[in-house]
Amino acid sequence: MSNKCVYFFGGGRAEGNKEMKDILGGKGANLAEMDGIGLPVPPGFTVSSQVCALYNGNRKRIPDAVRREIEKNLRKLQTTVGRRFGDPADPLLVSVRSGARASMPGMMDTILNLGLNDKTVAGLIAKTGNPRFGYDSYRRFVQMYGDVVLGLKPVNKDDIDPFEAIIEAKKRERGLGGDTDLTADDLKDLVAQFKGVIKDRTGHVFPEDPVKQLWGAIGAVFDSWRNERAVAYRKLYNIPESWGTAVNVQLMVFGNMGNDSGTGVAFTRDPATGENTFYGEYLMNAQGEDVVAGIRTPLPIARLDKDVPGAYAQLERIRRVLEKNFRDMMDIEFTIQQGKLYMLQCRVGKRTAFAAIRIAVDMVGEKLIAEKEALTRIEPDQLNQLLRPVFDPAEKDAAVKSGRLLARGLNAGPGAAAGRLVFNSADAEARARSREPVILARIETSPEDIKGMSAAEGILTARGGMTSHAALVARQMGKVCVAGCGELVIDYGRREMTVRGRVLHEGDWISIDGTTGQVLEGRINTRPSEVLRVLIEKTLDPARSPVYQTFAEVMEWADKSRRLKIRTNADQPDQARNAVAFGAEGIGLCRTEHMFFGEGKIGPMREMILADTAEQRRAALAKLLPLQRADFQGIFEVMNGRPVTIRTIDPPLHEFLPHEEPEQRALAAEMGLSYEKVRERVESLKEFNPMLGFRGCRLGIIYPEITEMMARAIFEAAAATKKRGIAVEPEVMIPLVGHVKELADQERIVRRTAQAVMKAQGVRFTYHVGTMIEIPRGAVTADEIATVAEFFSFGTNDLTQTTLGVSRDDAGRFLVPYVAREIYAKDPFEVIDRDGVGEVMRMAVEKGRRTRPGLKIGICGEHGGEPSSIEFCHTMGLDYVSCSPFRVPIARLAAARAALLNPPASRRPGQKNGPARKGAPRRRPAKKAARAGRTSR
Ligand code: PEP
Ligand code: MG
Repeated sequence: MSNKCVYFFGGGRAEGNKEMKDILGGKGANLAEMDGIGLPVPPGFTVSSQVCALYNGNRKRIPDAVRREIEKNLRKLQTTVGRRFGDPADPLLVSVRSGARASMPGMMDTILNLGLNDKTVAGLIAKTGNPRFGYDSYRRFVQMYGDVVLGLKPVNKDDIDPFEAIIEAKKRERGLGGDTDLTADDLKDLVAQFKGVIKDRTGHVFPEDPVKQLWGAIGAVFDSWRNERAVAYRKLYNIPESWGTAVNVQLMVFGNMGNDSGTGVAFTRDPATGENTFYGEYLMNAQGEDVVAGIRTPLPIARLDKDVPGAYAQLERIRRVLEKNFRDMMDIEFTIQQGKLYMLQCRVGKRTAFAAIRIAVDMVGEKLIAEKEALTRIEPDQLNQLLRPVFDPAEKDAAVKSGRLLARGLNAGPGAAAGRLVFNSADAEARARSREPVILARIETSPEDIKGMSAAEGILTARGGMTSHAALVARQMGKVCVAGCGELVIDYGRREMTVRGRVLHEGDWISIDGTTGQVLEGRINTRPSEVLRVLIEKTLDPARSPVYQTFAEVMEWADKSRRLKIRTNADQPDQARNAVAFGAEGIGLCRTEHMFFGEGKIGPMREMILADTAEQRRAALAKLLPLQRADFQGIFEVMNGRPVTIRTIDPPLHEFLPHEEPEQRALAAEMGLSYEKVRERVESLKEFNPMLGFRGCRLGIIYPEITEMMARAIFEAAAATKKRGIAVEPEVMIPLVGHVKELADQERIVRRTAQAVMKAQGVRFTYHVGTMIEIPRGAVTADEIATVAEFFSFGTNDLTQTTLGVSRDDAGRFLVPYVAREIYAKDPFEVIDRDGVGEVMRMAVEKGRRTRPGLKIGICGEHGGEPSSIEFCHTMGLDYVSCSPFRVPIARLAAARAALLNPPASRRPGQKNGPARKGAPRRRPAKKAARAGRTSR
């Protein structure tokens, strides 16, 4: 670690810059950058985030050397601004703010107006000639300090903030309407009462000495790195605890110094739509927190041109300078103090998926960024927002016409959501856990609500603007949000909400439209998005959908950048059709058993299972053959020459049988068997551990006629498709293989059947036989298995189950707490457990390709559609990932990002240009290649 711990900025003399986020945090680095490029930044200094760890490891004491460095920078700040801490005539006042490497909006603490006390407040009043302003600043400071540093908080979630209670009592006593009616004397009295309540409830005396105040504030900001909401946020966004927060100490500037002062937040482009217009809000005569907290409803930024034209023109210029310098859409905070503009913060702006895509595409057009960079700006999961439903328009129209439109708020987070109304975070989480969709309604949200917001389908607030906490966080999470809906009167205590005389209770259905801002009573069904209408429903002309056009452009860039192929898991022609529309390049897993539940198939399937002899079984299979053949043919036709991997039967047989007596009796009657016979057979098929029992290739080995029937259905379908002039490339995949002999047994049947079909039909086609790698023995002996297998496909659902020894069907009960306790960072059934399952996969890749260079390897477990797992597959040199149809666009983008973030290692031997030389020595081990790729990020 560098010895320097404190970095000064101001007057164009910044010691840091935007590249130093690791030590200065995002806020500190960007303040330094703005100062460095000549933008008006109030001077100050940043205490590096490395000190956070020192502080926490030093029993919450800032080491002496760092204290001396801070004192030195404080002196420098005093000299720069010509003011001293504690000077009763002209006091130095500072803000103390957190700022981590990754933006964590509102998660940690901030203290403003530090330096005020009973003496210095007089100096502030003398300087501004405004006693009300002086005491208002003082009471805000004491309130924040009492809360953040001295720990005075509401007792529980329904308890009103003790400071707010005092303010309300004061207003009642004086018969005043709003906070702005409080006089200087009222505010002075509030300061005294605040100090009293702090002393009574915490035992701490409010410190009058500004230097003491500063040490307290710096420590409290470091402490806030570990507060509950920051910990929850870090978990949600994968931010390591070790990063720590920096602390920014900066000269205070005031937006509440009269009518030529103001404050605002803005985005260099519209964060909801991505449109290239200056977008934001401001309030005259107000402090920044008023805008963010949504206490007063702010004005649109364009209006500032009327209020302070000079500052507005300067902001318009700064908007362009920032975009050019940071090459991204930025979110800024500014204050105008008596006509002079100051930049308080800038960071890369959060945006909706619509906006992310549009901005990326527009910036490529404006030559601000390259296509490849644009791709790294869009998080793959953000595409979900484009694929998310909107309300059924007819139903919504009807709801509006029948008077169910309750109110209209700000369209803060696009999309449509319906759910049951809840009024606090805990209730939102509880109902969501029992799979009820919920809409979280709050007067305004705060960082305390983060878990509830995450659990809710949508968020509705009564107060606050487009940049309020609710709006920012909802957009970041991709949640539907209607904010600042002033007609709602929410009563937390009674858990009800009144809108124009109508009362809605907790649990009532409500629908919100985050694109129009409408709030509607009752439940309105949703329907697919524009992209879905173009691609899937074909009810929208692509040329008439700019959203679709932009989406398509990004997908095209992604396809140019990715190396991984994207396949889909589909068992029905319509699923395959959807997947192809989304860009799937093949089927990576067709689970044949899913087909057995289709029309007319379950009967012969059950007959086959209940058969006593191979003869009887063959007779039942003969009934299944044409049905399966028709299914496969449908899929081959849709896939039109793309590879199709079809897996032979996998699940335990009893899954196909009825388990209750009435159904068993009905089946017996249908099949002309006795009920006892059916029951006995079902009983005999029961297993203690069915997932480790008679399933997968074991079924085909014991009942070879099943594999034979399936292979025949696949190849006859292939022959018929080929005869119709459509190319086919079937790949037959054997599941749950742990021993090469299991695979060899099944391969013989498949190949024999292929030959017989080709001969009988007089058609030749290419086909392959491969295996799933989904149990550890299969991975460990992959070199042997690859002597038979022409391809591998990782079944990471089973491979996770068997590597971890965790039942995929029973894990819910303990995996959630496991993740909460960080035993696993993420649910290993969702994100590949790289250190465990990932290493097993790596071994299989290495050993498999050692035997058969160029061996085609893919993944078809659920992880195949999860972006970080896709990146892992890329770095390991897999050939394709296979995922559910609706995740295909996400996988395409994730694969492109993986390729861009992990530049290529040298080409694998035998791949594409290289001949598949059996047993050829490997020129470069896959493991090394993958690692080389990873470290180059
Ligand atoms: C797997 O195990 O990952 C897999 C794809 O197969 P299934 O989920 O059908 O067991
Ligand atoms: Mg499996």
